[in-house]
Amino acid sequence: MARSLLSTDMREADHSTSDAAASALAADDVQIPPELIQKWQQIVDLIAEIVQVPSSLVMKAEPQHLAVLVASASKGNPYRRGEEAAFDSGVYCEEVMKSRRPLLVPDATADPVWSSNPDLKLGLISYLGYPIAWPSGNLFGTLCVLDVKANSYSELHRRLMTQFLDVIEADLRVLCRYDARLAQEARARLAESERARRVLLGMLEDLNQAQERLQASQVQLQEAVRLRDEFLSIASHELRTPITSLQLMVQSLTRGIVPPSPEMTLRTFRLAERQIGRLTRLIEELLEVSRIQSGHLALELESLDLVLVARDVVQRFEADLARAGATVTLTDAASVVGFWDRSKLERIVTNLLANAMKFGEGKPIEITVEEVPTGTARLVVTDHGIGIPPERLPCIFERFERAVSAREYGGLGLGLYIVRSLVRGLGGRVWAESQVGRGSTFTVELPCSGPSPGRHVEAEAT
Ligand code: ADP
Repeated sequence: MARSLLSTDMREADHSTSDAAASALAADDVQIPPELIQKWQQIVDLIAEIVQVPSSLVMKAEPQHLAVLVASASKGNPYRRGEEAAFDSGVYCEEVMKSRRPLLVPDATADPVWSSNPDLKLGLISYLGYPIAWPSGNLFGTLCVLDVKANSYSELHRRLMTQFLDVIEADLRVLCRYDARLAQEARARLAESERARRVLLGMLEDLNQAQERLQASQVQLQEAVRLRDEFLSIASHELRTPITSLQLMVQSLTRGIVPPSPEMTLRTFRLAERQIGRLTRLIEELLEVSRIQSGHLALELESLDLVLVARDVVQRFEADLARAGATVTLTDAASVVGFWDRSKLERIVTNLLANAMKFGEGKPIEITVEEVPTGTARLVVTDHGIGIPPERLPCIFERFERAVSAREYGGLGLGLYIVRSLVRGLGGRVWAESQVGRGSTFTVELPCSGPSPGRHVEAEAT
């Protein structure tokens, strides 16, 4: 490399270091391991010894300054590892960095451009430096020698320097490849552990949900068990009562406890008839529920008048109504004809009227049958009895649900469940309105055209 060329380049250069240059210098900052520093130490020591100069250095460009990365351990070297020079301090290396070209200053004292550079103060009047590049092309720093005497550095010395420069750049290439591989492996490991973390989180979420579902179904199960136990105890009581009553009646006749007069016999038979009727209703209820549960709600559809069906049911209740001291007012249209199942329709009216009587406290009961709007039959059963607490209202159509104490009122808690199931089966809907102490109103709406296949209407309680 010709001295004149190096000097011209240097002279044209601006001594102030730009920010862009500084950031480009720092772009490939990979940590230099101690083994490499040791190797480069041997290189600079060797250079200093062969070129016979007091100072041989590897300088490194840091974001804000130049640092001595390796300094030869040669006699008279004023530089130590770790020393720093600001980018605009005007040292020789700074110019190499900026021009990205080698620089030779044989004698700074005789060169006006370099006559005031900081190295002169240390007595270092000649300089030969080469830029060191990262594999990316960005600047790493410099490899340089400085001498206390004027020195043009022979061709041999320059070749030696460029050879060592190649070694250092080769080291950087190996280092970067190794570093990139490590980074890639680290990234892959990170991605893998992130994937594993996500999977784990997903599993944890699933587990939590499953646990919540399990808890919910445990609560449901406990509630179902409680209702079933309550139902069994109520059912056995409900079935035993009329049987005990029947047994007592028959015994009082057969054992002559009551005189076998025709009147007594007739009275006993009437009582027996009532108890048998009660038993029959209970058993029918249970049979109806088992039919609903098994999904065999076989409907025998025919053209029927709901008005006539309601009148029929009310008539059948006459004796019971009389005993309860209640009256029923039936307000009806001339006829409301639809395509329905007679026994199911009777069951719906019967259950609603039986409840109105049971919970009606002997007060008047009103039944309305009408067609509102056209094509929809509406049956409304109103009593003025005990009413239903608002918090119980949404549950009363459920199986075994009862809003009264078993001691005060008999019943299996199945009547309204049956009503809702049959009404739904016929394509209609049923709901209740009630006020505690003022009575309840149950409304059933049925399509006169009968159930349409697949139609399913939720029962409502308001
Ligand atoms: P139950 O055999 O107990 O009468 P239901 O299914 O017919 O069973 O009724 C469920 C519950 O709804 C009853 O236990 C009662 O608490 C309430 N209920 C039903 N009808 C009436 C009504 N007309 N007035 C007040 N409460 C009623």
